[in-house]
Amino acid sequence: MSAPFFSSLRRAHPGARVMAAGGPWTSGLLRSFPWIDRVLPLDAGKWSSFFSLRRMLRNEPVDYAWILPNSFRAALMVKWTGARRQVGYGSDSRGWLLSNRVAPPGGVAHLADRYLYLLQAEGHQTRARVDDYSIRPEAQRFAENLLIAHHARKNAPLVGIHPGAFFGESKTWPLEYYKKLIHRLVDREGAQVFILGGPGELALTGKLDRMSGGRAVNLAGKDTLETLPALLSRLDVFISGDTGPLHVAALAGTATIALFGSTDYRRTAPRGPWNRTIHKDLDCSPCFARKCPLRHHNCMKQITPEEVASEVTGLLNKKQRIGKDGNREKRREEAGGIF
Ligand code: SF4
Repeated sequence: MSAPFFSSLRRAHPGARVMAAGGPWTSGLLRSFPWIDRVLPLDAGKWSSFFSLRRMLRNEPVDYAWILPNSFRAALMVKWTGARRQVGYGSDSRGWLLSNRVAPPGGVAHLADRYLYLLQAEGHQTRARVDDYSIRPEAQRFAENLLIAHHARKNAPLVGIHPGAFFGESKTWPLEYYKKLIHRLVDREGAQVFILGGPGELALTGKLDRMSGGRAVNLAGKDTLETLPALLSRLDVFISGDTGPLHVAALAGTATIALFGSTDYRRTAPRGPWNRTIHKDLDCSPCFARKCPLRHHNCMKQITPEEVASEVTGLLNKKQRIGKDGNREKRREEAGGIF
C-alpha cells in the first residue's frame, strides 16, 4: 500500500536518491519497487536496528525522512539517524520528534491515502493511481520457469490461493472452504490452482495440498519476496485474506478476491476495477483481533466457497470479454486507484 507513496515521491523528486528502510518482509518487497534506489534492511522489532540504520546511513545524510509507521519507535529511530527533516503523523506521543507533525485525516481513511497525505503535507502532488510499476525481467524469467517446471497450462485459467495470514488466525478462511473452492474451480472452471505461501507457512499449505487430493499445485516456499510480484502477475485471479501478497497481486495488475474478516476493508482492501472484496457486516466486525475473541470466527466462516467461486467466474468472464492476450495490459491500464 506504500506503492502510490513511492511512485508519487519519485515523481516529485525525479533526481533524488530514495532509500527505504523496513523489516525482513518489507525490505524483500521494497527491492522489487522501481522507485527505490537503496533498501535498508532492518531486524524486525529489535533495538539493534537503531545502530544498523545509523551505520547504513553514515555516509549518506538524509535530507527528508517520511515515517510511514505510526509508532514512537520508528520516529525515534529516524531522529537518531540525524535526518534533517522528519515528516509523520503526530501519533503515539511522538510529535516532538517530528519537524512536520501531520494531523491524521478524519473519518475512515484508506492506508494508501494516509501515506499520500504525508506527501501532500509537504506540498507535493500525489496520485493513488500507480501506472509506472514494472517487474524486473529477471523476476519475470524466474516466475515463468517456475510455472513451466510445475506444468502450468497455457489455456487454463491460472488461480492462486494464499491460505495463510501472518497477522493471525482471525484473517484466515477455513482450509475446508479452500478445499471446496479448489474442487469447484478445477472441476467446473477447468482452472489450474496454485497454493502459495512463505517459508513459515509450509505446514498450513502442505495440509491444504493434501486435502485438495492432488487437484492443486503447491508452490509454497518456492519463490522469494523479490520474485513474488512476477509470480502473482502471471495468475489470472488471486484469492487471499487481508495479507501482504493480496496487495502485491493488486500492484502487479492481477485480479484479486479479498476475504475480509476481523479487519476493516475500507482501510486496506485493494480498490481497483479488478479487485473484489467479500466481507460480512457482523455487529462485532471489524474487531482487529488476531484471534476471534468470540471464538466462532463467523466473519470468515460466513463467506462461502460458492460466493468466492462466483466472484472468480465473474472475473474470468470479464477477462474473457477483453481477450486473454490483452488482458494483463488492460488490467494494468485500468489499475487506477488500485489502492
Ligand atoms: S469478533 Fe467478530 S470480527 Fe472479530 S474475529 Fe470474531 S467474528 Fe470476526
